[in-house]
This record gives sequence, C-alpha cells and structure tokens, in this order.
Amino acid sequence: MSVSYPEFSSLELLDQYIRNYETENCVQLWKRDSRTIEKMKAVCPLKLKTYNPELKYYSIIYACKKGGRLFKSESSGLRKTSSYKDNCPMAIKLALNSNGTKLKIVHMTENHNHPLDRQLFKNMPKQRKLEMEDKVEAIKMLKENCNQKLVQAYLQEKTGKSVKLKDLKNLRSSSKRSHKKRILNAEQKYKVALFKCKKIASIISNFSMNDFESHCNQLDDIIDLWSQQTEEVIVEHLEIDQEESMIP
Ligand SMILES: [Zn+2]
Repeated sequence: MSVSYPEFSSLELLDQYIRNYETENCVQLWKRDSRTIEKMKAVCPLKLKTYNPELKYYSIIYACKKGGRLFKSESSGLRKTSSYKDNCPMAIKLALNSNGTKLKIVHMTENHNHPLDRQLFKNMPKQRKLEMEDKVEAIKMLKENCNQKLVQAYLQEKTGKSVKLKDLKNLRSSSKRSHKKRILNAEQKYKVALFKCKKIASIISNFSMNDFESHCNQLDDIIDLWSQQTEEVIVEHLEIDQEESMIP
C-alpha cells in the first residue's frame, strides 16, 4: 500500500501544516531532529546540485512532545519540561525530494501511547500563547488597572485560549522590561553623538567670525577634557571625519 504524503515548497507552508496538524489532532509537536542542507552538502554534493536554499533543511523529524529525549523549552533553557516526556512514538519525518525543490513527508507514525486530552492540550504553554494584537490589548487593559481576572475572562472569551493569571503577570513584566533604557553599542553611540555634533556645526557656522572662534575654542576645551578619558577612540573617529571633510 503506497500512501501519498504532502510536500512543501517553502518552510512557511510546512510550518502552517504543522500548526494545523497540532490543532486538529490536539497534539503538540517539537522538532526532535533536523539536518541542514548546508551540513549535508559535503555528504551528497550531487543530489544537492539544484536545491532551493530557502528550504534550509535536508531532513526534519517532528515528534509528539510526549516522545523522544529530553528537550529544552523555547523560552528558557533551564525550565524543567520533563513532565511532558513519555516516550510517545508519534512522529512526522520529512526529507528533501530528489531535485531539492521541496520538503516532503516520507514517514508518519500517528499513534500515541497516551490519550489525547483536549483540555490538557489547550493548557500547554504553546497553545496558550496569545497573538501580538491580543497581547497589546491585554497590556493596555492591565495598565489601565483593569481587574486581572476580568482581563483573563475577556481574553479567554475572545481567543478561546486557556489564558492563565500567570501568563498575564508575565505579559506585564515583559512589557515593563521592554520600556527600560536601550543599551547602545559604540557604533550606535557614535551615530547619536555625530548627529548632535552636526547640529552644533550648523548653529555655530552662522555666527560671526569672532563668536565662531570663541565657540570653537570652547569645543576644543571639551575635546581636550573628554579625550583624556578615551584618547584612542576619539582620535580614530576624528581621522574618519577629516577624510570626509576633504571631499569637496
Ligand atoms: Zn503522543
């Protein structure tokens, strides 16, 4: 008996299929194993002559979260997720087709060694995850001091997802984190500083010659003072600017 399994011309289509499979079958899948095309080039260069690089994978195995070896949670490598592990054999295996244009399902084991519980499924973290739009709405409500239980009920009604109070708490604290000050690297700081220096240049270039000279002297003092702290860096950037200014 030959079964014809679906094939996918992009990772996006595959992802869609996997998500549909999860909701229709009330299972949560994870990528248990994968080999990239890049890695397999050395092993089978002939087969990979005409492949589509966007497919990225040479082979992938999706398995039921209750199956296989221990895995790390996506959000935190440290969280213990062993409670979901139960050696379930369910798996979907994909491989690149012969001319490398599609990823196709080559094998499917669809039986589980445990009952499929819709309620349990809905309670798994991945299924509780809210869409960005719902998150934004929830954060807004929480900031307006709406009662958490009301926000929870509202979101459950709206999305059909099993939103927990702890999810709302996490949302709140992650939105606070993202409002913290951005840390800039040296290149970004340089750009901000350059913007300000250009403003100074455009202001003082309109001054009379006397005022211009006295402001230039003030700037020299600032440069002297600050360059004592980080001499090398400033010299480096000044050289670049001098080169730029030589361009007519
Ligand atoms: Zn299973």
